[in-house]
Amino acid sequence: MKDLSNKNIIHVKKDGIEYLQFRKLLEYSDILVHAYGIGLDRNYRTAKANGKLEDEKYHKALNDYKTLCSAIEADYTNCVKPVQRHTKNVQKVMHKNNGQPDFENPQYENTDGLITEQKNIILSTTNADCILLMFFDPNKKVIANVHSGWRGTLQRISIETVNKLKEEYDCKPQDLICCICPSIRQCHFKVHADVQEPYYEEFKNLKGIEHFIEPVPGEDRWAIDTVGINIEMLKEAGLKEENIVDSGICSVCNSDQIHSYRAEKEGYGLGTAIIGLK
Ligand SMILES: [Zn+2]
Repeated sequence: MKDLSNKNIIHVKKDGIEYLQFRKLLEYSDILVHAYGIGLDRNYRTAKANGKLEDEKYHKALNDYKTLCSAIEADYTNCVKPVQRHTKNVQKVMHKNNGQPDFENPQYENTDGLITEQKNIILSTTNADCILLMFFDPNKKVIANVHSGWRGTLQRISIETVNKLKEEYDCKPQDLICCICPSIRQCHFKVHADVQEPYYEEFKNLKGIEHFIEPVPGEDRWAIDTVGINIEMLKEAGLKEENIVDSGICSVCNSDQIHSYRAEKEGYGLGTAIIGLK
């Protein structure tokens, strides 16, 4: 398998598993742990069937979290994962509920972003083509982990997160670091008018929009750069360009290593982003 390291990320292979880490966040490894897991079995799911957790998948997912967390010397029982629903809802995590990882917890139903200032809580999100954004404020020592698929981006959840960090923790946008995990990129995110139209309507005043939504030559489709849109929105919200760190990896182009809904189709696996203060 090829090494996905680049100027912003390092690709770690350790104890039989693989994950990516952002060089910028590693500068704060005295107080911060993080990883984007890529190399585990293609099954990070904590699927629910008829409202009931499927035991086998749940235990597999638990074990995957355990392996990934162990690799970065974090305790997997501290994981908190929202029930992601492509919303713009961001919640503050105050404490852990029990001795097990907190996922599929109704408290975090309909939630696609989590923020916390608490130590020893690992904020977790999963994706397969959607964007995951990890935020860190080195000044206030606050973190966020956000799932932003095309629907979340259309609802500007990354900006909802910045606003929530300002309200709850008095964070300054110019202090925030935002790291963008592997996701589908403009090379593969081609949509019809049903998606292009609301995107254009929402973002027509965004700088660079003519490059973020481009017609596909000879087709009745458009290629949308949802990462570019997030980066531009974050800059407009006051983040410094050098603090917005993109992995630059397309999940579809690299679907042999990165989980992709579009490439894997039914039975697709999930990549997992974890970030925690210690
Ligand atoms: Zn691609």
